[in-house]
Amino acid sequence: MTERDLPIHHRAEDPGGRLWSFGKVIWVHCPECDKAAKKDNHGVNCNHCGHTTIQSRKPSNNRWATPASSKQKCTHCGEAIGNEDRPTARTKDGELFLQVRCPHCGETDDYPARPGWTTQRFGYEPGPPLFLATQVAGETLWVQNLAHLDALEDWLGAKVRERGPQPGLTMMAKLPRWMKASTNRAKVLRGLAQLRERAEKAGIDE
Ligand SMILES: [Zn+2]
Ligand SMILES: [Zn+2]
Repeated sequence: MTERDLPIHHRAEDPGGRLWSFGKVIWVHCPECDKAAKKDNHGVNCNHCGHTTIQSRKPSNNRWATPASSKQKCTHCGEAIGNEDRPTARTKDGELFLQVRCPHCGETDDYPARPGWTTQRFGYEPGPPLFLATQVAGETLWVQNLAHLDALEDWLGAKVRERGPQPGLTMMAKLPRWMKASTNRAKVLRGLAQLRERAEKAGIDE
């Protein structure tokens, strides 16, 4: 990483707003190719491999599936691939298959699957892991997108942080203590700089 001056400055005012008001997209690891993919209200969209999720509001969504065997092993490395629901199911010749990228060796394959429970049971769909995340001081520092990154950098880089006009639990007010601690400021800012570099390399532009 190139050594850059950390963006430490004197004063910042809470811009207000909640997490979802910072940017419209969330960058995640594409469930198929693992590169940066955009997630919004309509699902995940990957410009690299073309993966698209169509989120369905129907109670049983057969795109969300789980491996038919909870002990399914990776066909490449033989390690267990896990049995969580994933949005990458397809029907082939009347049989349901699930595309799974092995967490151990990274190889992707199709496995026999059964419909998942995620959407039926909880009514929400856990997304793929965030693309812009890193470890700082033993904690996970993550941002959803560049607007979120800019806002955090400005706020956490300030020596004096002032409440803005918006009362209540804004995104800034809800940040965890470790992130706001002045002793962690340099580490956190370096973490954010790393995320910015990763975003640039991945072609993330919003
Ligand atoms: Zn992809
Ligand atoms: Zn494997």
